[in-house]
Amino acid sequence: MPPRSLWLREALAAEDGAASPELRGPARADVCVVGGGYTGLWTALRLKELEPDASVVLVEADVCGRGPSGRNGGFALSWWPKIETLVKRLGEEEAVRLVRASADAVAELGRFCEREGVDAHFRSSGWLWTATSPAQLGSWEGALAAAVRAGERPFAVLSADEVQRRAGSPAHLGAVFEAGAATVQPALLARGLRRVARDRGIGIHERSPLVELDREQGVVRTPGGSVQAGAVVLATGAWLAGVPELRPAIVAVSSDMIATEPIPERLEKAGWTGGEAISNSRLMVHYYRTTRDGRIAFGQGGHRHVFGGRVDEAFFGETPPATRAHLERDLVRLVPFAAGAEVTDAWGGPIDRTADGLPFFGRLPGRVPIVYGAGYSGNGVAPSLLAGRILASSALGREDEWSGCGLNRGVPGRFPPEPARYLGAFVVRAAVRRKEGREDEGRSVDAVTRKVAGLAPQGFFRVNR
Ligand SMILES: Cc1cc2nc3c(=O)[nH]c(=O)nc-3n(C[C@H](O)[C@H](O)[C@H](O)COP(=O)(O)OP(=O)(O)OC[C@H]3O[C@@H](n4cnc5c(N)ncnc54)[C@H](O)[C@@H]3O)c2cc1C
Repeated sequence: MPPRSLWLREALAAEDGAASPELRGPARADVCVVGGGYTGLWTALRLKELEPDASVVLVEADVCGRGPSGRNGGFALSWWPKIETLVKRLGEEEAVRLVRASADAVAELGRFCEREGVDAHFRSSGWLWTATSPAQLGSWEGALAAAVRAGERPFAVLSADEVQRRAGSPAHLGAVFEAGAATVQPALLARGLRRVARDRGIGIHERSPLVELDREQGVVRTPGGSVQAGAVVLATGAWLAGVPELRPAIVAVSSDMIATEPIPERLEKAGWTGGEAISNSRLMVHYYRTTRDGRIAFGQGGHRHVFGGRVDEAFFGETPPATRAHLERDLVRLVPFAAGAEVTDAWGGPIDRTADGLPFFGRLPGRVPIVYGAGYSGNGVAPSLLAGRILASSALGREDEWSGCGLNRGVPGRFPPEPARYLGAFVVRAAVRRKEGREDEGRSVDAVTRKVAGLAPQGFFRVNR
């Protein structure tokens, strides 16, 4: 049994429903979804919504929520911070349409939880996009200006005093606040989606990894069985790098998290009581939030990447001691009142990073529709709801605003091939680390380091935005 995150342990302990059976023997389905994270589960639910009589089967390698969907920071954010990149990839009109849809998706997530009785600790308490060094100040200016051009003002600009008061920490030098953002307990959401999917008649098979895909016949094979499907949806997140056509588009980068023991009195005393999700503006971003039982969950992206995009158990094993120590040190620097609180948990997971930080969707060549989607680059909690719409419409061969959306055009940017990709990322990350470390200390950065760090694809190590 692979190690579980704090979130998934909590979610599994709260369940009393029956386990989902492994796939045994041959089966047939109109659509087979591979992967039981948010993308696969939202897609399965959307398929049933569009065609209630369709038979839908979902196979998951381990248990639903085992991947990043049960291990993430739980920030449910819109794509407003990514508006400039969306405009670059899709043009102004389509970018704005999708950004608005992503903001609606956050609210829809809350309505879904309410309607379906899923207590995923959904809290619409907003997001503080902060600067924790002088160099980070104003990082949000481009996004703010693009939003204003679209006639919207999703962000309120806060003074240093205001953000310090709300976050209970003097480490924040400035911020903007997006009130529409929310937080969830991520694994409770994943397991709640699974429960609702089962209630809708979707056949869920856990501990049933896809081991072979017959692209011509549309057969999904697992160790114990097979599904002959009219269409297949590949929703395996960072594992999609295993598909040769998609490998150039995804780099698996780690994001690592720690959680303190419950410290509600300290939160109260410091004033961080509004439940705001917080991140700073580093490339190797820090992100932190509180939990319902008064813990601080604190994470950082970009400590590790792997050769050839292979997602292995290293992403799920024990956090390397150096990474854990680094996170503990940064927690106390950014949230000083957490000093001395016991860190009870540490875990990590793979981020499916694309060159421009946006997801992509498409269809593999072949007779049977085999559609795929991934590449959220660390921002999939709310956007995966939109992915479900894109993938369900595509799998059913519908022509609508979702199958026709600008993100559904196959592989966008490509990373260089290996070994250049692995070695290049290594060198660039070292430069980014040095640059941001010096900026944190208010020190100058030499031109070479700045130049090499500047080679990082936009937001390469960044998650949560
Ligand atoms: C530490 C961390 C923090 C993050 N923080 C945030 C955040 O705060 N906000 C945010 O928006 N995003 C965050 N993310 C990203 C977010 O978690 C993902 O974008 C999102 O969960 C992607 O969902 P998914 O369903 O596409 O993929 P996954 O959750 O990866 O699901 C894919 C599933 O496919 C299964 N699978 C793989 N191979 C096979 C196979 N061969 N057969 C069957 N099943 C298979 C896996 O077991 C897994 O369950 C974070 C990610 C990490 C790792």
